Amino acid sequence: MAQHFLLSSAARTLSLRSIYAAGEEGAFKTFCELRWPETKGEPVCPACGSLTAYKTARRRFACKDCRKQYSVTSGTIFASRKMAFVDLLAAICIVVNAAKGVSALQLARDIDCQHKTAFVLGHKVREALAAEIKDATLSGDVEIDGAYFGGHVRPENMAEDRKDRRLAENQTGKRRVVVVARERRGRTRTFVVPTEAHGVAIARNVVNQDARMFADEASHWDALHGSFDTFRVNHREGYSVFGVSTNQAESYFSRLRRMVAGQHHHVSARYLHQYAAHAAWMEDHRRLDNGTLCHRAIGLALAHPVSRGWKGYWQRSH
Ligand SMILES: [Zn+2]
Repeated sequence: MAQHFLLSSAARTLSLRSIYAAGEEGAFKTFCELRWPETKGEPVCPACGSLTAYKTARRRFACKDCRKQYSVTSGTIFASRKMAFVDLLAAICIVVNAAKGVSALQLARDIDCQHKTAFVLGHKVREALAAEIKDATLSGDVEIDGAYFGGHVRPENMAEDRKDRRLAENQTGKRRVVVVARERRGRTRTFVVPTEAHGVAIARNVVNQDARMFADEASHWDALHGSFDTFRVNHREGYSVFGVSTNQAESYFSRLRRMVAGQHHHVSARYLHQYAAHAAWMEDHRRLDNGTLCHRAIGLALAHPVSRGWKGYWQRSH
Protein backbone atom coordinates (compact mmCIF):
# COMPACT_ATOMS: atom_id res chain seq x y z
CA MET A 1 0.00 0.00 0.00
CA ALA A 2 1.24 3.45 -0.83
CA GLN A 3 2.57 5.50 2.03
CA HIS A 4 0.16 8.09 3.41
CA PHE A 5 1.07 11.51 2.05
CA LEU A 6 1.45 13.13 5.46
CA LEU A 7 3.98 10.46 6.46
CA SER A 8 6.15 11.08 3.41
CA SER A 9 9.07 13.50 3.38
CA ALA A 10 7.36 15.35 0.49
CA ALA A 11 4.81 16.63 3.03
CA ARG A 12 7.58 18.34 5.02
CA THR A 13 9.21 21.20 3.17
CA LEU A 14 9.46 23.75 5.98
CA SER A 15 10.73 23.40 9.52
CA LEU A 16 11.08 25.67 12.54
CA ARG A 17 14.79 24.83 12.39
CA SER A 18 15.12 26.28 8.89
CA ILE A 19 12.98 29.32 9.78
CA TYR A 20 15.13 30.22 12.78
CA ALA A 21 18.35 29.39 10.94
CA ALA A 22 17.41 31.93 8.23
CA GLY A 23 16.66 34.42 11.01
CA GLU A 24 14.90 37.77 10.92
CA GLU A 25 16.39 38.81 7.56
CA GLY A 26 15.41 35.51 5.94
CA ALA A 27 11.85 35.74 7.28
CA PHE A 28 11.58 39.38 6.16
CA LYS A 29 12.65 38.34 2.65
CA THR A 30 9.95 35.63 2.63
CA PHE A 31 7.29 38.19 3.55
CA CYS A 32 8.50 40.58 0.82
CA GLU A 33 8.40 37.80 -1.80
CA LEU A 34 4.88 36.80 -0.78
CA ARG A 35 3.59 40.39 -0.62
CA TRP A 36 5.12 41.45 -3.93
CA PRO A 37 5.40 38.28 -6.05
CA GLU A 38 5.18 40.28 -9.31
CA THR A 39 8.45 42.09 -8.51
CA LYS A 40 10.03 39.03 -6.86
CA GLY A 41 9.94 40.76 -3.49
CA GLU A 42 11.06 44.26 -4.51
CA PRO A 43 8.88 46.82 -2.68
CA VAL A 44 5.87 48.42 -4.35
CA CYS A 45 4.48 51.58 -2.73
CA PRO A 46 0.94 50.79 -1.50
CA ALA A 47 -0.03 54.48 -1.89
CA CYS A 48 1.16 55.31 -5.42
CA GLY A 49 2.44 52.04 -6.89
CA SER A 50 5.97 53.35 -7.34
CA LEU A 51 8.70 50.74 -7.63
CA THR A 52 11.40 53.04 -6.29
CA ALA A 53 11.94 53.12 -2.56
CA TYR A 54 14.67 53.79 -0.03
CA LYS A 55 15.25 51.31 2.72
CA THR A 56 14.90 52.99 6.10
CA ALA A 57 15.46 51.79 9.64
CA ARG A 58 13.73 48.71 11.02
CA ARG A 59 13.05 47.11 7.63
CA ARG A 60 10.75 49.85 6.42
CA PHE A 61 10.63 51.66 3.08
CA ALA A 62 10.24 55.29 2.02
CA CYS A 63 8.67 55.88 -1.40
CA LYS A 64 10.92 57.96 -3.64
CA ASP A 65 7.91 59.38 -5.50
CA CYS A 66 5.19 60.10 -2.94
CA ARG A 67 7.49 60.07 0.12
CA LYS A 68 5.14 57.85 2.13
CA GLN A 69 6.71 55.41 4.53
CA TYR A 70 5.52 51.85 4.48
CA SER A 71 6.42 48.33 5.49
CA VAL A 72 5.87 44.92 3.95
CA THR A 73 2.74 44.54 6.10
CA SER A 74 1.26 48.06 5.60
CA GLY A 75 -2.41 47.95 4.64
CA THR A 76 -2.63 44.19 5.27
CA ILE A 77 -4.12 42.16 8.09
CA PHE A 78 -0.63 42.10 9.70
CA ALA A 79 -0.37 45.92 9.75
CA SER A 80 0.99 47.38 13.02
CA ARG A 81 2.65 44.06 13.68
CA LYS A 82 4.90 44.10 16.73
CA MET A 83 6.11 40.54 16.50
CA ALA A 84 9.43 39.86 14.76
CA PHE A 85 9.08 38.50 11.22
CA VAL A 86 10.86 35.32 12.24
CA ASP A 87 8.37 34.68 15.06
CA LEU A 88 5.41 35.53 12.83
CA LEU A 89 6.66 33.07 10.20
CA ALA A 90 7.23 30.40 12.87
CA ALA A 91 3.75 31.00 14.33
CA ILE A 92 2.09 30.50 10.95
CA CYS A 93 4.18 27.39 10.33
CA ILE A 94 2.96 26.00 13.69
CA VAL A 95 -0.67 26.85 12.83
CA VAL A 96 -0.62 25.14 9.42
CA ASN A 97 1.27 22.12 10.79
CA ALA A 98 -1.55 21.47 13.24
CA ALA A 99 -4.21 19.37 11.51
CA LYS A 100 -6.70 20.27 14.25
CA GLY A 101 -5.53 23.87 14.61
CA VAL A 102 -3.70 25.15 17.65
CA SER A 103 -5.02 26.95 20.71
CA ALA A 104 -3.89 30.48 21.53
CA LEU A 105 -2.44 29.22 24.80
CA GLN A 106 -0.28 26.63 23.08
CA LEU A 107 0.83 29.05 20.37
CA ALA A 108 1.78 31.62 23.04
CA ARG A 109 3.99 29.01 24.71
CA ASP A 110 5.54 27.81 21.47
CA ILE A 111 6.65 31.24 20.33
CA ASP A 112 6.84 32.86 23.76
CA CYS A 113 4.41 35.72 23.31
CA GLN A 114 1.43 36.97 25.29
CA HIS A 115 -1.76 34.93 25.10
CA LYS A 116 -3.59 38.03 23.80
CA THR A 117 -1.11 38.33 20.93
CA ALA A 118 -1.48 34.68 19.97
CA PHE A 119 -5.29 34.85 20.22
CA VAL A 120 -5.54 37.80 17.82
CA LEU A 121 -2.87 36.40 15.49
CA GLY A 122 -4.73 33.08 15.20
CA HIS A 123 -7.96 34.86 14.36
CA LYS A 124 -6.32 37.15 11.82
CA VAL A 125 -4.88 34.11 10.06
CA ARG A 126 -8.30 32.41 10.11
CA GLU A 127 -9.97 35.51 8.66
CA ALA A 128 -7.44 35.56 5.82
CA LEU A 129 -7.84 31.82 5.13
CA ALA A 130 -11.63 32.18 5.01
CA ALA A 131 -11.34 34.93 2.40
CA GLU A 132 -9.77 32.48 -0.08
CA ILE A 133 -13.20 31.10 -1.02
CA LYS A 134 -15.41 33.95 0.17
CA ASP A 135 -17.36 34.24 -3.07
CA ALA A 136 -16.82 30.79 -4.54
CA THR A 137 -19.76 29.02 -6.19
CA LEU A 138 -19.80 25.25 -5.77
CA SER A 139 -20.59 22.86 -8.60
CA GLY A 140 -20.43 19.19 -9.60
CA ASP A 141 -21.30 16.80 -6.78
CA VAL A 142 -21.98 18.79 -3.60
CA GLU A 143 -22.71 17.32 -0.17
CA ILE A 144 -24.60 19.38 2.38
CA ASP A 145 -25.01 18.73 6.09
CA GLY A 146 -25.28 20.52 9.41
CA ALA A 147 -24.08 19.91 12.97
CA TYR A 148 -24.61 21.58 16.34
CA PHE A 149 -21.80 23.32 18.21
CA GLY A 150 -21.67 25.14 21.53
CA GLY A 151 -24.18 25.75 24.27
CA HIS A 152 -22.84 22.91 26.40
CA VAL A 153 -24.59 22.55 29.74
CA ARG A 154 -22.62 20.80 32.46
CA PRO A 155 -24.63 17.94 33.96
CA GLU A 156 -25.54 18.30 37.62
CA ASN A 157 -23.55 16.15 40.01
CA MET A 158 -26.53 14.41 41.56
CA ALA A 159 -28.56 12.33 39.12
CA GLU A 160 -31.83 13.53 40.65
CA ASP A 161 -30.93 17.15 39.77
CA ARG A 162 -30.17 16.43 36.13
CA LYS A 163 -32.43 17.71 33.42
CA ASP A 164 -32.75 16.89 29.75
CA ARG A 165 -29.56 18.55 28.54
CA ARG A 166 -30.60 18.58 24.89
CA LEU A 167 -33.46 20.87 25.85
CA ALA A 168 -31.28 22.90 28.22
CA GLU A 169 -28.58 23.36 25.57
CA ASN A 170 -31.16 24.73 23.18
CA GLN A 171 -32.07 27.33 25.78
CA THR A 172 -28.59 28.70 26.42
CA GLY A 173 -28.79 30.86 23.32
CA LYS A 174 -25.21 29.80 22.53
CA ARG A 175 -26.00 26.80 20.41
CA ARG A 176 -25.33 27.21 16.70
CA VAL A 177 -25.41 25.04 13.64
CA VAL A 178 -22.50 24.85 11.26
CA VAL A 179 -23.77 24.09 7.76
CA VAL A 180 -21.20 22.72 5.35
CA ALA A 181 -21.53 22.56 1.57
CA ARG A 182 -18.69 20.52 0.16
CA GLU A 183 -17.72 19.74 -3.41
CA ARG A 184 -16.41 16.23 -3.87
CA ARG A 185 -12.73 16.67 -4.80
CA GLY A 186 -13.19 20.43 -4.51
CA ARG A 187 -13.85 23.26 -2.13
CA THR A 188 -15.69 23.46 1.15
CA ARG A 189 -17.83 26.37 2.28
CA THR A 190 -19.15 26.79 5.82
CA PHE A 191 -21.86 28.89 7.43
CA VAL A 192 -22.97 29.43 11.01
CA VAL A 193 -26.75 29.62 11.34
CA PRO A 194 -29.40 29.12 14.05
CA THR A 195 -30.88 25.93 12.55
CA GLU A 196 -29.92 23.35 9.92
CA ALA A 197 -33.00 24.27 7.87
CA HIS A 198 -31.22 27.51 6.90
CA GLY A 199 -28.96 25.29 4.80
CA VAL A 200 -31.50 25.16 1.97
CA ALA A 201 -31.32 28.90 1.38
CA ILE A 202 -27.52 28.71 1.65
CA ALA A 203 -27.41 26.00 -1.02
CA ARG A 204 -29.53 28.13 -3.35
CA ASN A 205 -27.08 30.98 -2.81
CA VAL A 206 -23.73 29.27 -3.18
CA VAL A 207 -24.33 26.12 -5.22
CA ASN A 208 -24.62 26.17 -9.00
CA GLN A 209 -28.10 24.98 -10.02
CA ASP A 210 -26.59 22.31 -12.30
CA ALA A 211 -24.90 20.65 -9.30
CA ARG A 212 -25.98 17.28 -7.94
CA MET A 213 -26.78 17.64 -4.23
CA PHE A 214 -26.27 14.94 -1.61
CA ALA A 215 -27.99 15.19 1.78
CA ASP A 216 -29.18 12.94 4.59
CA GLU A 217 -32.76 12.01 5.47
CA ALA A 218 -33.53 15.07 7.64
CA SER A 219 -36.87 16.42 6.41
CA HIS A 220 -35.80 20.04 5.92
CA TRP A 221 -33.56 18.91 3.04
CA ASP A 222 -36.71 17.86 1.13
CA ALA A 223 -36.89 21.43 -0.12
CA LEU A 224 -33.60 20.90 -2.01
CA HIS A 225 -35.39 18.68 -4.54
CA GLY A 226 -37.25 21.72 -5.89
CA SER A 227 -33.99 23.47 -6.79
CA PHE A 228 -31.44 20.74 -7.49
CA ASP A 229 -31.00 17.20 -8.71
CA THR A 230 -30.88 15.82 -5.15
CA PHE A 231 -29.86 12.43 -3.74
CA ARG A 232 -30.60 11.36 -0.19
CA VAL A 233 -29.01 8.82 2.11
CA ASN A 234 -30.87 7.48 5.11
CA HIS A 235 -28.28 7.10 7.87
CA ARG A 236 -30.48 4.55 9.61
CA GLU A 237 -29.80 2.28 6.60
CA GLY A 238 -26.13 3.05 6.13
CA TYR A 239 -23.55 5.78 5.63
CA SER A 240 -23.22 5.07 1.94
CA VAL A 241 -26.15 3.40 0.22
CA PHE A 242 -25.92 2.69 -3.54
CA GLY A 243 -23.07 5.20 -3.72
CA VAL A 244 -25.08 7.98 -2.12
CA SER A 245 -23.38 9.45 0.95
CA THR A 246 -22.48 12.60 2.80
CA ASN A 247 -19.13 11.15 3.87
CA GLN A 248 -17.13 14.20 2.77
CA ALA A 249 -19.31 16.46 4.88
CA GLU A 250 -18.92 14.03 7.79
CA SER A 251 -15.10 14.07 7.46
CA TYR A 252 -15.23 17.83 7.64
CA PHE A 253 -17.32 17.74 10.83
CA SER A 254 -15.02 15.20 12.38
CA ARG A 255 -12.07 17.58 11.86
CA LEU A 256 -14.02 20.56 13.21
CA ARG A 257 -15.15 18.55 16.27
CA ARG A 258 -11.60 17.49 17.01
CA MET A 259 -10.43 21.09 16.55
CA VAL A 260 -13.05 22.47 18.94
CA ALA A 261 -12.85 19.71 21.56
CA GLY A 262 -9.13 19.02 21.36
CA GLN A 263 -7.63 22.49 21.01
CA HIS A 264 -9.99 25.35 21.70
CA HIS A 265 -12.27 23.63 24.26
CA HIS A 266 -14.77 26.47 24.33
CA VAL A 267 -15.57 28.44 21.24
CA SER A 268 -17.96 31.31 21.45
CA ALA A 269 -20.80 31.53 18.95
CA ARG A 270 -19.26 34.82 17.87
CA TYR A 271 -16.08 33.21 16.53
CA LEU A 272 -17.41 29.79 15.52
CA HIS A 273 -17.49 30.84 11.84
CA GLN A 274 -13.73 31.44 11.94
CA TYR A 275 -12.93 27.98 13.35
CA ALA A 276 -15.38 26.46 10.86
CA ALA A 277 -13.61 28.19 7.96
CA HIS A 278 -10.18 27.19 9.29
CA ALA A 279 -11.17 23.50 9.41
CA ALA A 280 -12.55 23.77 5.85
CA TRP A 281 -9.30 25.28 4.59
CA MET A 282 -7.29 22.51 6.23
CA GLU A 283 -9.57 19.86 4.67
CA ASP A 284 -9.33 21.37 1.21
CA HIS A 285 -5.53 21.66 1.32
CA ARG A 286 -4.75 18.48 3.25
CA ARG A 287 -2.60 17.15 0.43
CA LEU A 288 -0.32 20.18 0.22
CA ASP A 289 3.12 20.09 1.83
CA ASN A 290 3.56 22.30 4.89
CA GLY A 291 5.88 24.84 3.22
CA THR A 292 3.27 25.47 0.51
CA LEU A 293 0.54 25.72 3.16
CA CYS A 294 2.55 28.21 5.21
CA HIS A 295 3.38 30.39 2.21
CA ARG A 296 -0.18 30.21 0.98
CA ALA A 297 -1.49 31.34 4.38
CA ILE A 298 0.97 34.26 4.49
CA GLY A 299 0.15 35.19 0.88
CA LEU A 300 -3.55 35.30 1.78
CA ALA A 301 -2.87 37.37 4.90
CA LEU A 302 -0.76 39.88 2.95
CA ALA A 303 -3.48 40.16 0.30
CA HIS A 304 -6.10 40.72 3.00
CA PRO A 305 -6.87 44.26 4.15
CA VAL A 306 -6.63 45.46 7.74
CA SER A 307 -9.19 43.57 9.79
CA ARG A 308 -12.00 45.65 11.19
CA GLY A 309 -12.76 43.03 13.79
CA TRP A 310 -9.22 42.24 14.93
CA LYS A 311 -7.29 45.50 14.59
CA GLY A 312 -6.76 46.90 18.07
CA TYR A 313 -8.92 44.12 19.50
CA TRP A 314 -7.48 44.37 23.02
CA GLN A 315 -7.64 48.16 23.07
CA ARG A 316 -11.42 47.95 22.97
CA SER A 317 -13.65 46.83 25.79
CA HIS A 318 -15.55 43.59 25.29
ZN1 LIG B 1 4.49 56.16 -3.22
